[in-house]
Amino acid sequence: MHSNRRSFVARGLAAGTGGAALGFPAVVAAQQTFNWKMTSAYAKGAPFYMEGPGSAVDLARRIDTMSGGRLKIQVFGAGELIPAFEGFDAVRAGTVEMNHANSYFWTGKTFAAQYFTAVPFGLNFQGMNGWLYDGGGIDLWNEVYAPFGMVAMPCGNTGVQMTGWFKREINSVADLKGLKMRIPGLAGKVYANLGVDVKVLPGGEIFPALERGVIDAAEFVGPFQDRRLGLHKAAKYYYTTGWHESATVSELLINKAAWSKLPKDLQAIVENAAAACNVISEGWCQKANSDAMEDLIKNQKVIAKPLPDPVIAALRRETEKVLAEGIKDPLTKKVHDSYFAFKSKYDRWQEVSEEAYHLKVRG
Ligand code: CA
Repeated sequence: MHSNRRSFVARGLAAGTGGAALGFPAVVAAQQTFNWKMTSAYAKGAPFYMEGPGSAVDLARRIDTMSGGRLKIQVFGAGELIPAFEGFDAVRAGTVEMNHANSYFWTGKTFAAQYFTAVPFGLNFQGMNGWLYDGGGIDLWNEVYAPFGMVAMPCGNTGVQMTGWFKREINSVADLKGLKMRIPGLAGKVYANLGVDVKVLPGGEIFPALERGVIDAAEFVGPFQDRRLGLHKAAKYYYTTGWHESATVSELLINKAAWSKLPKDLQAIVENAAAACNVISEGWCQKANSDAMEDLIKNQKVIAKPLPDPVIAALRRETEKVLAEGIKDPLTKKVHDSYFAFKSKYDRWQEVSEEAYHLKVRG
């Protein structure tokens, strides 16, 4: 009996080495390690994007910890490996496996990319998550990137941004005419329709340009990030709640061929780490912006207020024109229709839930 058992074990081991009977190949695959590179559109050390809770560096650290070191991601700030806005091409070519930025930087490659970052007058953070995770948004994102051999997922969110800093008060639509303003993306096209001279500058160049009067106005992110750049020292008027970026999504862009080579458990770790950073980064923004806004008003004597209603109405009208132009592209129309079908239902739900709470209950 003793020798029989020994021969059974021997047979089992032999079968295992020859095939999948004992799961050996799976064990070997699970122990394979991967060394990836992730670039960013933001400079090394930039809070929220590169450093701090839910940032690119935090995302890489979480993936390293959860995978027991099997997926190591080296993170590079803008300009360290490639220039700020070349992440799309680098991931597409497979030069790097991942890029951490915002999809609206790629609207020149595919206009539909705008919808996965922020649409002017669009969804808030909760609504955006509803559309992305449960309303088909992420599937559409991947459909848009399929021709480029890439996949994507949300990995951060600033929440609602601020309209921005203006050296002069804006009392009417006419006050926008001839104004030189730093404003990227689709919102730039909207302002341009109202006579704004639109400039696109990287974060680090905004303060000197505003201070020297090269530009008259600028938007960046929100109170914490804007104060860090010193924008309150160059312009006095801080126009509040951002019509142009109601919940700006950070994008984790991944080369599809590299993604396909990851075992399922490592893919799940990346997806879960990205979802964690999506929530954690937004939470950090709420705290950091609450503190910074109080300081800007109390100590820095900033004049903070919303844009006048007629200006907002004009911006809304021009946004509709810019979006109507974009949906001449069939894939953009597919994404647009999904986004706005979700939004119209969500808006009705918001009216009786979050909005009703803030207006009638919170006090
Ligand atoms: Ca912005």
